[in-house]
Amino acid sequence: MASISLKNIVKNYGKTSVVKNIDLEIEDGEFVVLVGPSGCGKSTTLRMIAGLEQASSGDIVIGDKVMNDIEPQHRNIAMVFQNYALYPHKSVRENIVFALRRLKVDEQELQRRLVEISEMLQLEELLDRKPADLSGGQRQRVAMGRAIIRDADVFLFDEPLSNLDAKLRGHMRTEIGKIHNKFGRTSVYVTHDQIEAMTLADKVVVLHDGYIAQAGTPMEIYLDP
Ligand code: ADP
Ligand code: ADP
Repeated sequence: MASISLKNIVKNYGKTSVVKNIDLEIEDGEFVVLVGPSGCGKSTTLRMIAGLEQASSGDIVIGDKVMNDIEPQHRNIAMVFQNYALYPHKSVRENIVFALRRLKVDEQELQRRLVEISEMLQLEELLDRKPADLSGGQRQRVAMGRAIIRDADVFLFDEPLSNLDAKLRGHMRTEIGKIHNKFGRTSVYVTHDQIEAMTLADKVVVLHDGYIAQAGTPMEIYLDP
């Protein structure tokens, strides 16, 4: 478990600043949803937290550790994308536990987590299939399982549901809420979907052109006149 502080974060690509000055405190266990128009810097912000992009200036602190020079694989962060890439030749089971095998997690613990996660995401019947034999929604559930099974300190989601149809989106939204209630991991979630923001967020942060335009509870952001 861990808090996240973004301290005066700036990101420039050449001469263009895409994140201009972001100062944000995310509490341990908090679910923060980042919203705002396309191109306002949401993904870039998420990728800087993950360590996939370096900030041009400012500090990113997770827990009590300054992360600026820490490689992504040492940040203990799980990330779920819109375009999840599963390993095509591995079964669903092996896709889900792959990271744990690499981390040399004890076999008994690995099985315990696999059972827990596959029940939660209703993947029990699918464990022996290959990704090609799954629907889009099923694949997204596998991608979610693979991310959360790692027991990371922080979960990052970049529009994880935007490729799904409305019904599946609703279902997965509920699942993500349940996962958060169960594990209580600090989460940062990027979406365009107001319902996702309303139902999942403890705090909504509205970005505009690389700045935080507004931040508050979903009620404050969406329901204030
Ligand atoms: P959002 O997620 O809010 O849609 P992004 O963070 O993806 O926005 O992008 C913010 C801005 O940064 C956009 O104008 C985008 O074109 C630009 N951008 C993103 N990645 C790069 C890059 N690697 N090189 C140059 N510009 C980039
Ligand atoms: P490996 O360490 O064997 O390359 P990984 O699963 O760590 O395998 O990464 C595979 C590819 O996916 C890498 O190119 C990496 O850049 C990308 N990747 C891994 N984790 C993330 C992440 N959280 N966000 C974005 N890209 C990632």
